[in-house]
Amino acid sequence: MDILNYIDGELVPAESGSWLDNYDPSIGKVYSRIPDSGPADVEKAVSAAKKAFPGWSTCGIQERYRILNRIADLIGANQRELAEAESRDSGKAIRTSSSVDIPRAEANIRFFATAILHFGSESHHMEGEAINYTLRQPIGVVGCISPWNLPLYLFTWKIAPALAAGNCVVAKPSELTPMTAFLFSRLCQEAGLPPGVLNIVHGLGPKAGQAIVEHPDTKAISFTGGTATGKHLAATAAPMFKKLSLELGGKNPNLVFADCDLDKAIATTVHSSFGNNGQICLCGSRIYIQRPVYEQFRDELVRRAEKLTVGNPFDEKTKLGALVSKQHREKVLSYVQLAREEGGTVLTGGETVNPGGEFSEGYYMRPTVIEGLPNSCRTNQEEIFGPVVTLQPFDTEEEALELANSVKYGLSSTIWTNDIHRATRLAEKIEAGIVWINCWMVRDLRTPFGGIKNSGVGREGGFEALRFFTEPKNVCIKY
Ligand code: NAD
Repeated sequence: MDILNYIDGELVPAESGSWLDNYDPSIGKVYSRIPDSGPADVEKAVSAAKKAFPGWSTCGIQERYRILNRIADLIGANQRELAEAESRDSGKAIRTSSSVDIPRAEANIRFFATAILHFGSESHHMEGEAINYTLRQPIGVVGCISPWNLPLYLFTWKIAPALAAGNCVVAKPSELTPMTAFLFSRLCQEAGLPPGVLNIVHGLGPKAGQAIVEHPDTKAISFTGGTATGKHLAATAAPMFKKLSLELGGKNPNLVFADCDLDKAIATTVHSSFGNNGQICLCGSRIYIQRPVYEQFRDELVRRAEKLTVGNPFDEKTKLGALVSKQHREKVLSYVQLAREEGGTVLTGGETVNPGGEFSEGYYMRPTVIEGLPNSCRTNQEEIFGPVVTLQPFDTEEEALELANSVKYGLSSTIWTNDIHRATRLAEKIEAGIVWINCWMVRDLRTPFGGIKNSGVGREGGFEALRFFTEPKNVCIKY
């Protein structure tokens, strides 16, 4: 099957005519191909977006709402097909793609379709002298670049606020998981999105992605991906004075205090550790447990991890499908090896899984729990982004806080305690963009979303995203 670029309303191959293989990670085989796009394709996409901008930015919020809402309806109507495509493309279990990825993609579009109807700006009154009001105008052509771990979910999370605010978009999904963005482009055609308003260019990051970031007419870049890529992107975009939103990596702590509801903490920690094979930027990978409950927590987490079914992503009973690629599984396994060299004990997992039959060449591995590592070692400091967690005991609240803040990342964190004072005290001091107390992955789309330190710059979500995708202009009227 050929995946095609979506440029100026048409589905087209790359200008060069070259293609890249696209793998099905569940069987480890090529099953489709994507355009190997480059600067010439990005040029076409940007010029289509520029042509579409005057119409889209002035058609009115009701019209933008109507079309975006129609796209959301079509995602809803095609949920099963999209969920199956997402699982085939990324290896994730169908229960995840059908309950998380695709419903959330629909919610993203619907949320921003309606958010724009409620979005306002400020005015500042200077008594007796003048009044200032702020215009919030769309920026123009913007670039949106997304990763492979939550493909349509994160793709729509970016493009929806950009489009709702009246911008025209040149977007690139990950080359590892391009399929649902391609299916999405067909839904945009069906919904009547005017040509050029959204353009999707497929291909490699350093080639197609780089061309989007470098293009002088993409005025803002919204990027989600790895910290090293984000750094490179910022170095390219900053001298061109582009607006930048960077959602980067994480190494998130879970703090488990002895006074918490341990059963709930363990059940949720299974999800926060191994959900989507640990390939969610918000997964908690460093688990710090207060000493009195350390053994109990550890033994129960290991017992439950061992019960998780790994294999055929299309079986509704499967909890963990395949990792996204052979290279990624090798990277994750190399961290397990590193953990052993650093003195850790692998309590469970650490090895590949062969589900047999047609899935025997897929990229599966067992959920892995490691203990006995010093906090400063690489395994505890670097993002692994797989089904691997480490456990460490702590004694006091101060020690827990120090451990939580001891990495260069600052994306999310989870605190398990029944002491509300402790919880709020820690929430103030933890270096993270999101603090979950006695829960994980509870998401309200109106809240600011993003990280601090090496986890990124800027916030997505709610009106924050609409502010990012608009340029404020102060107008002052003298009485
Ligand atoms: P990645 O950085 O390798 O790629 C992300 C996207 O950037 C892809 O579309 C890729 O093609 C593109 N890209 C690569 N090089 C580029 C370049 N030079 N110019 C422009 N674009 C380029 O990341 P990944 O491996 O796809 O995703 C995993 C990473 O994403 C993890 O670090 C994870 O923590 C992070 N992530 C962060 C969040 C968040 O909200 N903070 C959410 C999901 C994933």
